[in-house]
Amino acid sequence: MKLLDGKKLSLELQTEIAAEVEAHVANGGRKPHLAAILIGDDPASKAYVGHKVKACAKAGFESSLIEREGDISQSELLDMVRELNEDDSIDGFIVQLPLPSHIDNQAVIEAVKPSKDVDGFHPENVGRMALGLPTFLPATPGGIMTLLERNGVKTTGMHAVVIGRSDIVGNPMTTLLSRNAEPGNCTVTQCHSRTVDLKSHTLKADLIIAAVGKPHFVTADMVKEGAVVVDVGINSIEDSSRKSGRRLTGDVDFDNVAEKCSLITPVPGGVGPMTIATLLQNTLRARLASKR
Ligand code: NDP
Repeated sequence: MKLLDGKKLSLELQTEIAAEVEAHVANGGRKPHLAAILIGDDPASKAYVGHKVKACAKAGFESSLIEREGDISQSELLDMVRELNEDDSIDGFIVQLPLPSHIDNQAVIEAVKPSKDVDGFHPENVGRMALGLPTFLPATPGGIMTLLERNGVKTTGMHAVVIGRSDIVGNPMTTLLSRNAEPGNCTVTQCHSRTVDLKSHTLKADLIIAAVGKPHFVTADMVKEGAVVVDVGINSIEDSSRKSGRRLTGDVDFDNVAEKCSLITPVPGGVGPMTIATLLQNTLRARLASKR
């Protein structure tokens, strides 16, 4: 078994991005500027946004973190989005999900100008991705594709099983793996909570993408010998050996599955850092595409 080391690759990508930014600035360009809207005080969301802001600084980007209380109204949030749409100093921005339950996520996603939608969630960008047109790929699936590509995993002809059908991971992952490209060209089976006999599908998979949100959901008896396993899950579980009493773990029973598969992503240090690197790539791309 070999690790698909997302942390290492993410650092390499961030170095490449920083060099591009330096060259752009040396040619008289402005630094890319990413803004992030964070609503409420969910500790996980705070941590994710914190990582993104830190990564911006390392890559030579400007960043702005805009924090508001969880009781913000939908119309106030939509006004903030419109302001960022019109702000020429911002190249791209994200609204950290999940949003409080009184806010309509979709209305917020659709309010973001597609040319600044570096999360790749706007229906226009989702449609462009589905058609194989240039666009911002959603950061997590986009990062997984890069992780496979840069580790020399040839996916053409593989039978891939994606577990999950969320708009931010499972669905775009299915689209990208089945596109006519390398990486891609997979025969994809997409599973979800209504799938009957999930194990009968995963046992046939050359590539498993687990995006379920349940700790250690994918067990060794569900995995074919030699499969490639990508664990998207980030779950906080109790661990009395830690000072905090908790630790992060994935959707895959890593210790037992690792013995069976050829390649596997760790959690943490796998998909998470790739998500951040892809967000930076998207923002740099927004900056370079901008006439401002
Ligand atoms: P969602 O909760 O939106 O989707 C989970 C999916 O898993 C759903 O489609 C659900 O099916 C499916 N599912 C649930 N139970 C089962 C089951 N018993 N059998 C088969 N399928 C099942 O989660 P996300 O896609 O947003 O995230 C998934 C995980 O990835 C989470 O742990 C999240 O924290 C993590 N994540 C990590 C990121 C990273 O950067 N590493 C980025 C984004 C997410 P159904 O549709 O039928 O309900």
